Amino acid sequence: MSLGCPKALVDSERILTQLKVEGYDIVPAYHDADLVVVNTCGFIESAVTESLDAIGEALAENGKVIVTGCLGAREQKIRERHPNVLAVTGPQRYEEVVGAVHRHLPPRHDPYLDLVPPQGIKLTPRHYAYLKIAEGCNHRCTFCIIPSMRGDLMSRPVDEVLREAEKLVAAGVKELLVIAQDTSAYGVDIRYRAGRWRDREYATSLTGLARGLGDLGVWVRLHYVYPYPHVDDIIPLMAEGGILPYLDVPFQHGSPRILKLMKRPAAAEDTLKRIAAWRSICPDLALRSTFIVGFPGETEDDFRRLLDFLRAAQLDRVGCFTYSPVEGARANDLPDPVPEEVKRDRHARFMEVQREISRSRLAAKVGGTMQVLVDEIRDDGTAVARSHADAPGIDGQVLIAAARDVKVGEFIDVRITGARDYDLVARRSTAAGPGN
Ligand code: SF4
Repeated sequence: MSLGCPKALVDSERILTQLKVEGYDIVPAYHDADLVVVNTCGFIESAVTESLDAIGEALAENGKVIVTGCLGAREQKIRERHPNVLAVTGPQRYEEVVGAVHRHLPPRHDPYLDLVPPQGIKLTPRHYAYLKIAEGCNHRCTFCIIPSMRGDLMSRPVDEVLREAEKLVAAGVKELLVIAQDTSAYGVDIRYRAGRWRDREYATSLTGLARGLGDLGVWVRLHYVYPYPHVDDIIPLMAEGGILPYLDVPFQHGSPRILKLMKRPAAAEDTLKRIAAWRSICPDLALRSTFIVGFPGETEDDFRRLLDFLRAAQLDRVGCFTYSPVEGARANDLPDPVPEEVKRDRHARFMEVQREISRSRLAAKVGGTMQVLVDEIRDDGTAVARSHADAPGIDGQVLIAAARDVKVGEFIDVRITGARDYDLVARRSTAAGPGN
């Protein structure tokens, strides 16, 4: 429930968006809810009365109530009349509200279903936000149960997504992380229907969305994109600086035989050729991917092909998992499971190859300058930041020692002075903002 001015509404949107991304359902009626968040107004006396009445109504109808917003700054006044509210937080204290919801109604994180890393759920600072553009998936990868749980792809209309993004930016978000099960398929289910936003037409497609988001003046990062030919259209937008030159492409394997057994989207594409073409258009492009080793039927020859692919692709950021069966997945019926010991050994060999690649790619950045976004200031004064190549929670970091006068959520320019296996070390040059 949201009361008060447009600023309060923006806060409510921010809270709802975050909770939705974390898997909470937003319901319209008190009796369907496990918990109620009341965003209050405390500006004039009549608003205070209205807010206190609304809290009373929510308590009577539901019983579990968290209060936030302007009246939240006057906790005593709320508790005098409603001592049983679960938590009270002040205006724009969005992290505290989400934290209170987590405490009283813990999120269920399912690594097989959720798009957001667990770190993102525990603590999503206010300067970045996940933007979910679709639900469900039209593919049928044999190791995955998402289509049976969430159904086929359902894209959100582009104008709705752009309006939500605009509100997030108005609420202080500096980086938008675009997510869906298959971001590259966005819009196909609604035939790329056009939508109007800020007096312009945009197609409900990845390119249409990227064009719109590129006008917001914040970092825009694309996750879960498959290497289909139409993804080529996004790369020039990255080269022009509209959206971050970053693509998270879950390749999962490098052996065509295993990709076929996995029934992966775009498995037939010549991925290495595509990567080379992307890099020729946008040399700064940072590529992130995830892989599975030890999939049923994976032979030593398949695994070597995977390592060859890794060496040839020279990806910037890579995650690797050993295959483990998911209840209900068709891959469970495949013959020739790989013994656990072999899986672990392949995982270690894989990570060793990627460590070398990461180390040499990062070493090549020493001496250069880049813009970073500050995530945290440690007690010793070190600023922990990220570059365009680092998504929060899953990629590397840029560490800036003795960073004076730097604030969390601020963009700064730095010069790279050193490189580790996965992280960079830098010192500050001059302050800046994205695209302006
Ligand atoms: S693309 Fe494959 S792995 Fe991803 S959600 Fe769809 S079926 Fe699952």
